[in-house]
Amino acid sequence: MKVVIALLVLETVNSLYLVHPRFWNYDKINWTNYTACVNGKAQSPINIVTTTTIPLPKKMHKPEFYNTKTKGPVTVWNSGRTVTINGFEQWPYLTKPYLMDETGKKFLLFRMHLHWLYSESIVGNGSEHSIDDVKHNGEIHLAFRYDDDEMDLGEALESGNVRMVSVFFDVKQRRDHQLFVMTDLDYALTLITKYDDMSEMVQFSVDPILKNVNGGMFIYNGSLTTPNCKEGIRWYVTKVPVAVAQYQMELLKHIKHVDNSRNSRPQQDVNDRIIYNV
Ligand SMILES: [Zn+2]
Repeated sequence: MKVVIALLVLETVNSLYLVHPRFWNYDKINWTNYTACVNGKAQSPINIVTTTTIPLPKKMHKPEFYNTKTKGPVTVWNSGRTVTINGFEQWPYLTKPYLMDETGKKFLLFRMHLHWLYSESIVGNGSEHSIDDVKHNGEIHLAFRYDDDEMDLGEALESGNVRMVSVFFDVKQRRDHQLFVMTDLDYALTLITKYDDMSEMVQFSVDPILKNVNGGMFIYNGSLTTPNCKEGIRWYVTKVPVAVAQYQMELLKHIKHVDNSRNSRPQQDVNDRIIYNV
């Protein structure tokens, strides 16, 4: 009995963040089992219309990232809907990458994943967010949770203590220092083309991904972009894309999902939400 209860608890905690791909897909968008996905008024992703954004109030700080140059081990996993990078939680506390948000609260990096242009023939894929209707070839989502040992991920989600940072990427032909942002991921991507494949990287760093964050960002209140579409997520959509090479885009296109669908959700209504321009 104890085992059964433990499994149920585990399943509940997991489902708060990631519903198993067998229960949903992108093509049908039949996410009706998840109330927030259908009736939520603060859903993500959105198109950000820059003329409707406002400056961050003076009493707030510009969000800053720390320990971005730290390197450490991660697992790279084909979840059936995306490529997920886990393992940051095991990094030493003192050198772990973190975000200091506009209110001065500290959030630790715990996971990241990608959305990308899965096929030229599927309309509406690529990045999830857009700025003034401009989409990009892909979008990296970095998930941060409030720095509190006592709070598990489910509690952090329930209490509005998860922050998502979005970084766009585009294929660039130029051979300059911005290119090959994903180089360290290249080999891992070749090993996880099938659903549930997993590979390990010894020296992963988010530094190349966060290199353009000083180019500014938009901040708004939204949701997870997959079921259960939980709201209360503060988003930081950074403005300046990073560059990847064409062959890296091809590597991503060879990642097989459960039903070979795209991996970006249609954009949602902004409604009366405030979007800060930082
Ligand atoms: Zn995402």
